[in-house]
Amino acid sequence: MPAYDRILLKLSGEAFGGGSVGVDPDIISGIAGEISDIVAAGTQVAIVTGGGNFFRGAQLQQRGMERRRADYMGMLGTVMNCLALQDFLEQAGVPTRVQTAITMGQVAEPYVPLRAVRHLEKGRVVLFGAGSGMPFFSTDTVAAQRALEIGADVLLMSKNGTDGVYDSDPRTNPDARRYDELSYNDFLAQDLKVADATAISLARDNGLPMVFFDLGVRGNIARVVNGEKIGTTVHA
Ligand code: UDP
Repeated sequence: MPAYDRILLKLSGEAFGGGSVGVDPDIISGIAGEISDIVAAGTQVAIVTGGGNFFRGAQLQQRGMERRRADYMGMLGTVMNCLALQDFLEQAGVPTRVQTAITMGQVAEPYVPLRAVRHLEKGRVVLFGAGSGMPFFSTDTVAAQRALEIGADVLLMSKNGTDGVYDSDPRTNPDARRYDELSYNDFLAQDLKVADATAISLARDNGLPMVFFDLGVRGNIARVVNGEKIGTTVHA
């Protein structure tokens, strides 16, 4: 029995590229298979895609580009990830819709929250692309906003190769300690970099629970959705 009726799953760009630039069809097909299983078990699934496997505006800015234009490039990258995942979901027999915050009628619907909810009720997976449509935001923040707007029960923040939130970076500090649970305020006070502060404060102000877990372990999406205590839960 799933623990949640409706989830918002944030997939970072890293999840699509396997650490490289562009998309890795094998990895995406695996993720699509896992999502297909949880949809079949009765959970409504909405997804926000990141775009770091293509472009990050802040990085392009450091290399001389104007930030706002670079951010739009970043947002367009997130749409390519939506289309790639849409393809593998449809191949797995899961009906989908892509909605984008920047209008592009030939490839996706515009972002219409009430329509997104209707799709979810009909068992379709809804993929939200193009971030917020606004420069200077991150897809983490958009994930929190979309989760709230569509009434998701939880925001699942998938990570690659990291099984939760640590008190310091486990890749550089072997003594780093993982939290099973963490309050929004402790997350913010420690200035942890696993998600951006705007996303955490939005979740805090509206009581949206978040679970950080490792997407790299097959079956983990279903484990979280079934209420298994893996990763780190962030709540009040
Ligand atoms: N972006 C933006 N506004 C948004 C969401 C994203 O400008 O509302 C841009 C920004 O340049 C960001 C890039 O899109 O760096 C890719 O998103 P993000 O870095 O959040 O992707 P992730 O780290 O999850 O792969």
